[in-house]
Amino acid sequence: MSYVFPPAAQVVVHVAGLTAVFPVRRVYCVGRNYADHAAEMGADSREPPFFFSKPADALVPGGGDVAYPPMTSNLQHEVELVVALGKGGSNIPADQALECVFGYAVGFDLTRRDLQSRAKDKGHPWDMGKGFDQGGPIGEILPVENVGHPLKGAIWLKVNGELRQSGDLAQMSWKVAEVIANLSSYVCLAPGDLIFTGTPAGVSTVVRGDVLEGGVAGLGELKIRLV
Ligand code: MN
Repeated sequence: MSYVFPPAAQVVVHVAGLTAVFPVRRVYCVGRNYADHAAEMGADSREPPFFFSKPADALVPGGGDVAYPPMTSNLQHEVELVVALGKGGSNIPADQALECVFGYAVGFDLTRRDLQSRAKDKGHPWDMGKGFDQGGPIGEILPVENVGHPLKGAIWLKVNGELRQSGDLAQMSWKVAEVIANLSSYVCLAPGDLIFTGTPAGVSTVVRGDVLEGGVAGLGELKIRLV
C-alpha cells in the first residue's frame, strides 16, 4: 500500500527503565474528578464521571518548552494522574479494571479556560478549549510492576516555584478502576489509550515565560516552560 503523503509519526511516551516506548492510541480526560475542583468550577462532584478527549498529537512527551497557544487570554494548568492502558475492552467490570493498566504518569491538562467557559455557556463542545496543539504535556510512564496502583499520595503543581495546586489522589471522586469501567461502557478501550483522571483545586492562569512543575508522589515530576 502507498500513501498519498507520508502518514504522521506514531506518538510515543517514554517508559521509565525501558528502551521500548509506549505507543499512544487515544487520549481521554475526566472532567471534575476532585470535589474541591468541582466546587471551584461551580459544579456538584457527585455527578457521574464525564469525559472529553485530546488528540494524541497534542501530547508533549517529557515536557520542556511549550508554545503558548493562540486564541486565548486565559490559559490554565491542571495537574493530573494519567493512566496508561496496556489492555482494553468494553464494559470492563470495575473489579477487573486495574488489570488493564500498564502504568501511570504525571500530565498537565492545559486548558484555554476562556474558550471552555464560552463553550459551556452555549452548550458547545469543549474541543477548542481542551484539544489544542501542545495542550497535553506528559511525563514518563512508570510501569505498574514498579510502582503498583497509586490510590493515595500527593498531587501538586508549582508555577515559578509557588505552590498553586496541592491535593491527594485519595480525593478523587471516581477512582481509577471506576473511571476505566465507566469509560469502557461508552467506548471500546485499547492498549495505548491514556486517561487523564482530573485535577484537584487551585487551577490558575499562566502566561508566557512561566515555569510549571508538577508531580504525583511516587511518579516523579513534569516541568514545562511556556514560550
Ligand atoms: Mn482536567
